[in-house]
Amino acid sequence: VDAFGTHAAEVAELARAAASRGWALATSGNFSVVTRREPLQIAITASGHDKRRVTASEVVEVDAAGRRIGGRGEPSAETAIHLAVIAARAAGAVAHTHSPWSTLLTSDARTEVVIEGYEMLKALRGIATHVHRERLPIVENTQDWTAAAPQVGRLLDEQPDVHGFLIRRHGLYTWGADATEVKRHMEALEFLLEVIGRSEGQRGGAWRS
Ligand SMILES: [Zn+2]
Repeated sequence: VDAFGTHAAEVAELARAAASRGWALATSGNFSVVTRREPLQIAITASGHDKRRVTASEVVEVDAAGRRIGGRGEPSAETAIHLAVIAARAAGAVAHTHSPWSTLLTSDARTEVVIEGYEMLKALRGIATHVHRERLPIVENTQDWTAAAPQVGRLLDEQPDVHGFLIRRHGLYTWGADATEVKRHMEALEFLLEVIGRSEGQRGGAWRS
């Protein structure tokens, strides 16, 4: 198995892990792992597949311009965002979910979700204490992510400490050095978003109105 094959299997496993938790239903979400740095190449889920049963054969390889160079199928429409995240953060892997809590918590007019004081924050790279304030900025949704990718790149340049960002009424992006780290970040942030969302719900939070 070549480098692409190894990483395609990691991408598929990551996608199945997300979908098994209900974070990437109805063929939504997409997941990628860097297969080569110079020139940049990534393995990313092809669009249109049920992420609960996605296999390495449903992962495509694309270049830095988002063109398919290996595998079968169409790269995700959000490939440009994965490439922007990888460029801004020197990330090795990216996860994008369409989870209920990331959708609910971005359904009002807020511009960020603030997460503070929770033990699970220590799952994020570089965070050693629950005494941490994580801010997940919210990007407005669009159907043209190729055009919006530079805006995402600027946001990540301006906010070098964030471990993820949200898209309004759409989902979460997070990244890591490799497939193992991005899975940990995805699980931690989804856990924290659910905790925040349930807490706001109990208090009659804004998203209920
Ligand atoms: Zn999406």
